[in-house]
Formats: sequence, structure tokens, C-alpha cells
Amino acid sequence: MPTRETPQQSTHQPTRPRRRALIVGSGISGLAAALTLHRAGWEPVIVERAPARRTGGYFVRFSGPGYSAAQRLGLLDALPSRLAPEGRGFEIDTSGKLTRGISFPAESGGTPLRILLRSDLERALYEEVFELVEIRYGVGPAAITQNRHEATVTLTDGSVETADLVIGADGIHSTVRSLVFGPEDLYRKDFDHVVAACIIDGELPGVRDGDTLIASAPGRSAWINTYTDGHPPVAFLLYRTPWPAAECRRKPAEALREAFGNFGGEIVPAMLDALDHSESVIFDQVSQIQINRWSQGRVVLLGDSAWCMTLYSGQGSGMGIAGAEVLARTLGEHDTVSAALGAWEKELRPLTAKYQKGAHRMQHFFMPVNRFGYTARRGLIRAMSTPVGGKLAKAIMR
Ligand SMILES: Cc1cc2nc3c(=O)[nH]c(=O)nc-3n(C[C@H](O)[C@H](O)[C@H](O)COP(=O)(O)OP(=O)(O)OC[C@H]3O[C@@H](n4cnc5c(N)ncnc54)[C@H](O)[C@@H]3O)c2cc1C
Repeated sequence: MPTRETPQQSTHQPTRPRRRALIVGSGISGLAAALTLHRAGWEPVIVERAPARRTGGYFVRFSGPGYSAAQRLGLLDALPSRLAPEGRGFEIDTSGKLTRGISFPAESGGTPLRILLRSDLERALYEEVFELVEIRYGVGPAAITQNRHEATVTLTDGSVETADLVIGADGIHSTVRSLVFGPEDLYRKDFDHVVAACIIDGELPGVRDGDTLIASAPGRSAWINTYTDGHPPVAFLLYRTPWPAAECRRKPAEALREAFGNFGGEIVPAMLDALDHSESVIFDQVSQIQINRWSQGRVVLLGDSAWCMTLYSGQGSGMGIAGAEVLARTLGEHDTVSAALGAWEKELRPLTAKYQKGAHRMQHFFMPVNRFGYTARRGLIRAMSTPVGGKLAKAIMR
């Protein structure tokens, strides 16, 4: 049964009829669009397929255009910095031995780098919009039609919504994109990698709060981020497989045990045990979305549905926020929706192209894809402890 959160009366006094935007998806991009459009005088409504708020989180590096946009939108104070100043970085070799590992730079992408959780961003945005914007849970689009004046969306609960603009902020496997632009296979470019992420509810042997631990081998890696503020550790695992789509149809626990059996001393097996009891596990292939137009008429894609850059770029969340900010601005600057969407796309394309390209370079840092990558990565981490190597590493991570 779909549920609904109704906004309180807004204090905004529009001088002309408020334009209505139907936003599909209440992830970071959808909530950011609701915030920026509401502030620009629109009436946004969000529909979200999940039955309730998705509050789960994984480790997120937050910097660059998204950080600057969050600053302009007044969100930074609500975003914690979860990097423990006294935190240590370790690499775990295949036998479980710990050696000195990476530490995160203070800056990245031209702004300070903040280490936080996806749920921190979600919460900061949700708290800004929940009293102002209607959010309907347990419902999504079943059909979308449009003419020159409006778009009409038939929802999965049978209701029908009309809007001046439909925003598909429904993630990498976007339904809006499938309904309006065509099947996902046309636009999804797969790495031969699978990612699993979860919150670890349990003990990890020998791990001190604040530590970051990375176990890597050619074609496999496991990352654990721990916190000193009481939040449980967050983990993600990456591995290579020739058939990532088929792999993702398997049970995560079974596929991960096969990929990571006998790896990373005691810590990785403990992670896998914890993962069995974790309530929300992300288990998906690593892919980018490459599509040559982000809008058709009054339907526009935003965030991962339009330009998914993968976790390797470190800019996916940020670009959802930056993209929403630019969208609201360009809609205010242009007389027609189509002119605004054209200008919006022109402004954002160079950035998303840059980050998609950068993700290919950074994949080796997250998971050495072969023996050569493994040796190069170890060399880089050793070099990072020297002043010159440290500067080089920062330049690569920028
Ligand atoms: C392990 C991992 C680590 C990451 N690390 C980083 C990082 O360090 N830095 C960074 O910036 N980014 C990182 N990212 C990427 C970042 O999390 C994403 O780019 C970002 O969350 C995308 O947000 P979104 O709102 O566009 O999409 P999503 O978060 O996918 O949200 C889409 C929403 O739409 C809803 N939805 C889907 N289908 C429908 C439908 N049919 N109807 C209604 N609702 C629907 C979903 O339930 C969801 O709530 C990482 C990702 C992963 C998986």
C-alpha cells in the first residue's frame, strides 16, 4: 500500500502559478532536485518505489562541484565529517598481514574532501524538504506520455499525475529512462566488476575504531571504514568476473564467499559473516551510463540515471546535487523548458565526461584489475609516504 508524506503549508508566495515537477526517486539526486526546484518557486512532488525512506549508507568521499553546490545550498553544517583525525590506514596482504596504507587527502577536486556516509547526504537533504514537498512511497511510473504543454505519468498504483517537468532521478536502473529513452542495455557500459556494500553489524578482529583497512589482490579488494563516532563499520567488496550480470543474479553471500574464500587473513571472512546478517546489502555490477541526450521534451534524467560514473569517480553523489542546482538555475533563466534543458546539459556534460574518464583511471586504485595493476598500486602506496610521492598521489586522486 503506497504511503504519503504531505507537506506543511509553504510560506513561499509565488507571483505566477507554480510549475509542477514530478520527481521519480528520493535518492540524493531526487531530494536535491526537490530542494532546488522548491527554492526556485516550483511545486515538486516525489514518487519513490521503496516502501519507506532509504536510510542505509556506505562510505562516500564528498568533494568537487557537489561540495561547492552543498555549500551554496547551506547544507554543509548538516554534513558530519567522519574521518577520525587519529585514524590509521592499513593494507592487508593475502595472508592477513597489515602494512602501512593510504590516508585521505584534505582536498580533492578543488575543494575540501569530506568523508561521510550516503545516509548523511540523504538525511541533510531530506530534512530540508520533507515539510515542503510531498513524498509518495511505494509507487513509481508505469507509463509516461507528453505533449508540448505537459507530461502525464501513470503510476503503478493506477493514479495519474500531470507535470510541467518529469525528472528521472531513479538511479542506474532507471525506469524513466527505459520508458522514454529505451532499454537499459543501450546505455549501460559494464566494467567486468561486481560491488557489494553493507554496514557491518558485528566485531572485526584487530580493527580499531577510526581505521581504514584495504585487502587487495589482483581482481579482488575489500575495504573497511570504521568510525570513532559510534557508527558501525562500513564495508565494500569488489571483484572481477567475466559475467557480472549473471553474477548479480546469484545470492550475494554465496557469490562473495566463492570470490573471497581464503582471502585477507581473519578480517575478510569476518566481514563475510557480518554481511550474512546485514539488513541492506548492495550487490550490483559496476557500470556507467552513457546516453547522448539527457532529456526528451519534458522528461529529463538526473544523477546516476543520466550519467552514472561508478563509485571509482568519487563524484556520483556530488554531481547529483550539483546537477540539481544547475537544473533549477537554468529553468529560471530560460523561457522554455526545452531551452533550459539544453543549456543545463551543455553546462554539465564536460564535467560528467571528465569524471567518467577519471573513473577508468581510478578503478586500479580501488581494485587492482591484474597482477601489473597490483604491483603498481603497491608501489604507489609506498611512494605516498614520501613527500614527492604524496604530491603525485594527490594529483592522481584529484
Ligand atoms: C559502494 C559505493 C560507493 C560509492 N562511493 C561514492 C563516493 O565515494 N563518492 C560519491 O560521490 N559517490 C559514490 N558512490 C555513488 C553515489 O552513491 C551515487 O552516484 C549516488 O548515490 C546516486 O544517487 P541518485 O539519487 O542519482 O541514485 P540512487 O541513489 O540510485 O537513487 C535512486 C532512487 O530512485 C528510486 N527508484 C528506482 N527506481 C524507481 C522507480 N521505478 N520508481 C520510483 N523510484 C525509483 C530508488 O529506490 C532510489 O531511492 C558510491 C556508490 C556505491 C555503490
